[in-house]
Amino acid sequence: MTQKLPWRIVAEWITEGEACIRSVEKIYAAGATRFQEYLIGELAGIGKSLVLDGKVQSSLFDEHWYHEALVHPVMLAHTCPKEVLIIGGGEGATAREVLKHKCVERVTMVDIDAELIELAKKYLPEWHQGAFDSEKLELVFADGRKFLSETDRKFDVVILDLVDPMEGGPAALLYTLEFYKLVANVLKSGGVIVTQASSPILTPRVYATIRNTIASVFKITRPYITYVRSYNGIWGFVAASDTVDPARLSSEEVDELIKNRINGSLRFYDGATHQWMFTLPKPIRNMLESY
Ligand code: SAM
Repeated sequence: MTQKLPWRIVAEWITEGEACIRSVEKIYAAGATRFQEYLIGELAGIGKSLVLDGKVQSSLFDEHWYHEALVHPVMLAHTCPKEVLIIGGGEGATAREVLKHKCVERVTMVDIDAELIELAKKYLPEWHQGAFDSEKLELVFADGRKFLSETDRKFDVVILDLVDPMEGGPAALLYTLEFYKLVANVLKSGGVIVTQASSPILTPRVYATIRNTIASVFKITRPYITYVRSYNGIWGFVAASDTVDPARLSSEEVDELIKNRINGSLRFYDGATHQWMFTLPKPIRNMLESY
């Protein structure tokens, strides 16, 4: 029997007029929550994946290239992060990486979509690896912006692991000046934040705008990159703080910090990788200067 579209293929616009098409080899779950359409399945080339609103969020093939790059530079740049806030992070892999840090006492993960988290718990055990069962993890089902405007808690590190802001979607207002001011407001002194920030190659204007908006709120802003085949190439992040500069860490310092402060092993991030991530190639530096 032939399967009906749209789940025979995942066709994702990567820029206006350019698409990436992957065949879906197996479906574990597909449907729609109150907030987004989802597909959890095996995709050609990248294996088991989570797709939201037609966009690959992460795949088993290289989720560690994304989640380790997102989490560890800011966590290690902080002197000893005890209270960590994740906004988004549905798969549980960001929480998994945060929980590897010995300093951490409490991780608060605020995701808008309780139904999606239930799906992640059931179908994505390779991502969360027990993180959802940790006593240190507090799950809050709420809009990240609403949470920030109502909380009186403060955090050492804030990690924004959200769906992209393009084409609307539930996170569109979580990439704005007003939102970053709310983030700054919940940060303890010595605190540091990071956000995923789209691709500096495929969507340079989006990436540069996120960087510039964050730079208007924090004294130190560091754009950096990783490579994620599942996202069609180079992927960008922005770290920021009033006092802490992750780009300053040397290769040797990163390796020493990993040894002393992280439980378990890392598959992507180390001192040499840190230098690579924070050394932006000339075309990306030129692009950022031009906006
Ligand atoms: N790794 C992904 C990427 O870069 O494409 C993003 C990871 S994760 C799947 C994104 C999460 O953001 C989802 O679980 C979604 O429910 C959550 N999310 C979207 N809008 C949100 C909002 N307004 N507040 C809190 N969480 C939100």
